[in-house]
Amino acid sequence: MQCKECNKELVNQIDNTHLYDCCGLTLQEYALRHHLPLDLLLNSDQINQRDDITNYIKPTQTSTQQVQDILAGLYMANAIRQDGDFTVITLGIRRLEQLLWYQQSLQVVGFQFKQEYFYENNSHRVVAKNSIKVPSSYLPPRIVNSSDESFLQQIAVLIGHIGEMHSGYLFLDFPGAEDANRVESELAKKHQIRFTELDASEHEKGQLMRCETLEDTSRLISLLSRYLQEIPNACERFFDQHEQATVVKELVFDSAHFITDHPDKCVNLHGGRYAMNVKVKDYIDPLTGFVLDYGYLKRIAKQKIVDELDHHNLNYVTAELSWRSSTELLNIFIWEKLIEYLPGLTELQIYETSQSHCTFVGPSLDELQKKGKSSLLRYFVSDELGKSQLRNLLSQSSLRRLKVIG
Ligand SMILES: [Zn+2]
Repeated sequence: MQCKECNKELVNQIDNTHLYDCCGLTLQEYALRHHLPLDLLLNSDQINQRDDITNYIKPTQTSTQQVQDILAGLYMANAIRQDGDFTVITLGIRRLEQLLWYQQSLQVVGFQFKQEYFYENNSHRVVAKNSIKVPSSYLPPRIVNSSDESFLQQIAVLIGHIGEMHSGYLFLDFPGAEDANRVESELAKKHQIRFTELDASEHEKGQLMRCETLEDTSRLISLLSRYLQEIPNACERFFDQHEQATVVKELVFDSAHFITDHPDKCVNLHGGRYAMNVKVKDYIDPLTGFVLDYGYLKRIAKQKIVDELDHHNLNYVTAELSWRSSTELLNIFIWEKLIEYLPGLTELQIYETSQSHCTFVGPSLDELQKKGKSSLLRYFVSDELGKSQLRNLLSQSSLRRLKVIG
């Protein structure tokens, strides 16, 4: 077999030992660079291997503060899992440098880098996993250090691992709500950086947090900048900007509605199938290749639109729609809900029939936070309603003195 990197003819299959000497790539990177199936590059004895703790040397050095801080950040990110006798941290191939950065600090306590290959029935191909692993019995005990320096290092590792940027706002989906609350209150108390809690975590006991404003995000990123800049790959998310793209989610819901005091038949209760397009424009995340995960977009659309409106009478869902549940006002109502979760929201389209639809572009989250929500939707919930002098006339109204006849 010929190596496509150094063009040498090799006696055996190409492997990581040769690649390390010849070009520094892993076998998976070599396969990606030369667009080859991994299956072709592996012997059957390299697939579905069981790792053995006797291949790992028990560390003689003790844990350092940096080891403790990196592990603490990764525990908060739920990035450390147990796999048999091993404690394992795994990251995708696009983040190999980041994983090796963890390894650089964690090797003193016995972690080793492994690229392992598994044939998986579901995918019908060999899948590679990059991990750093240590026998669980070698792991040092956790020491709590509450110095500000340690806290910032831990938060940087956490954000580097699970933080995402959407239209200038940092999102963190904490696997554990306790960690979320602790980080939120520490950052508020010591650094006046605020978070908004969003009820859309993908974790069962998790908490999705968004830096409340653009200013909160930039203050946090600059506070952590010297730590984040150190973490390869992760830093690309926070300091580089690439091409933008628009992703669209289509959804449908069936709702009833009526138009209060409409002169024609729309005054009557009637139903229909609404079709909707939710468009989100943002920078493409270099670590995922996505603007945002369609799974997240689908979850938000389901929770915030379909679950709220499907098989309901729109006029009774909320006071904002009780007078006129028109597609125009429905668009504003939905926009104000979604923008908190999707700050890249760029356009909504609602089809009331296949021939009639309404397109809406609302304010950015930043504008909404500074100028407040739409007054158009809030006439009947405004505190001003019922306060005018003219209302005196209601008390004098002859309506009060109507008598029942008969
Ligand atoms: Zn080579």
